[in-house]
Amino acid sequence: MTPSSFEDILLGGLAPDGGLVVPEAYPRCDPTLIESWRGLTYAELAFAILKLYVSDWPESSLRALIDKSYTLMAFGTREVTPLKTLDEQYCLLRLSNGPSLAFKDIAMQLLGNLFEYVLLKRGEHLNILGATSGDTGSAAEYAMRGKRGVRVFMLSPDGKMSRFQTAQMFSLLDNNIFNIALDGVFDDAQDLVKAVSADLVFKDRYAIGTVNSINWARVLAQVVYYFKGYFAATKAVPTDRVDLHTDVSKPQEVSFSVPSGNFGNILAGHIARQMGLPIRRLVLATNENNVLDEFFKTGRYRPRLSQETRQTTSPSMDISKASNFERFMFDLLDRDPEQTRNLWAKIDEQGYFDVAGDPRWQMQVERFGMVSGSSSHRLRLETIRQFYHRYGEVIDPHTADGVAVAKAYAEPGIPMICLETAQPAKFPDTIVEALGHAPSVPAGFQELSQRPQRFCRMPRDLAMLKSYIRSHAPAR
Ligand SMILES: *Cc1c(COP(=O)(O)O)cnc(C)c1O
Repeated sequence: MTPSSFEDILLGGLAPDGGLVVPEAYPRCDPTLIESWRGLTYAELAFAILKLYVSDWPESSLRALIDKSYTLMAFGTREVTPLKTLDEQYCLLRLSNGPSLAFKDIAMQLLGNLFEYVLLKRGEHLNILGATSGDTGSAAEYAMRGKRGVRVFMLSPDGKMSRFQTAQMFSLLDNNIFNIALDGVFDDAQDLVKAVSADLVFKDRYAIGTVNSINWARVLAQVVYYFKGYFAATKAVPTDRVDLHTDVSKPQEVSFSVPSGNFGNILAGHIARQMGLPIRRLVLATNENNVLDEFFKTGRYRPRLSQETRQTTSPSMDISKASNFERFMFDLLDRDPEQTRNLWAKIDEQGYFDVAGDPRWQMQVERFGMVSGSSSHRLRLETIRQFYHRYGEVIDPHTADGVAVAKAYAEPGIPMICLETAQPAKFPDTIVEALGHAPSVPAGFQELSQRPQRFCRMPRDLAMLKSYIRSHAPAR
């Protein structure tokens, strides 16, 4: 693949050959370098990591954009992703303290500032068009609200999101945010977005872009909290003890459990591990939609049709096709684009590929530390209940899937860091079902449902959507 500038990757998305963009190599960090990052603030750490990938920008600009994104204001704590140690084995890494109360804020807040900077610099504008069933839409809108050069047109299925999620999105009154409540289900919204993007003339004329989970900058921003979580869960080796008796070749290890859907979050963990972070296991957790668990257990990857995708009580993991998975397979196949392409051609031909016979698949746990498991509604409720009784903490249904699957892979002496991907307040019905009482609502969200809302209803009509965009967005 030919190298592209970071800006083009940021705004464009796909590589010239139609595949997903990946770096030519992951920068390798030796243990001394990693240890030297231990005391950094979140923003300093993000800068140390991102500058290894963004070599064609002035460091001062990158630094300023990172500083502007990872603030006490946006994330409620100075640590941005605080770690809570639960016992000798388990920790919870809180990724959901951002403005939309889900982990997607961490990458999206930075993306909003990167977009604004690049668009202003180039004198361009961008109209972000997306479909959401909840978390992605609100994270994108909270990141892009008020940003110069950016408008967001977000389609959501009318009446199908939780009341909390609906209020979160529709109460944004910024004049660059357009909420469209579509008469239909999530897939209808997704299909309309695809249809608009497929009209290349329209797409170009109205500078239509996306912020979906294959965006490379989003993946990259997520690498940071794996390092942050590692430092918080391990202890510094005092430098005066680094002598002949200290085995520096054996740094402390941790494992992470990751509630997964599009494979974006755990891909960032994989990248952190490839960079040299001593991660023992990356535990991939799915819900009833277990496409990825099936792959790691059997070697067969069979994306589901959208009508086969089950609606569950961890809805942000109801994914039939893991859009970032190609990037992991590329590494598993020793970074051979030809072989990667062939596997995806197989999916088009026969609906799946199967690599169980490939020695590289058999070696994946040793090479990449990837293990997996799936959860269910019953297990989710039981985990929320047990967790509450044991630790006095309410976790959301997605985090619960991760915690449930983590159990099988907990090893003595190796901290298991469970990623908290959303706050329970977003999913009150499931919490009530599990615990018999509603989750507490974080400060600032109590009167959410009373705020005025702005949105427009629309039938499933491509021409109408295009005309709506035309009348609210300047053409090139
Ligand atoms: C998006 C999301 C996930 C899944 O993350 P991927 O990066 O798509 O694997 C899990 N939990 C919550 C709460 C989410 O919003």
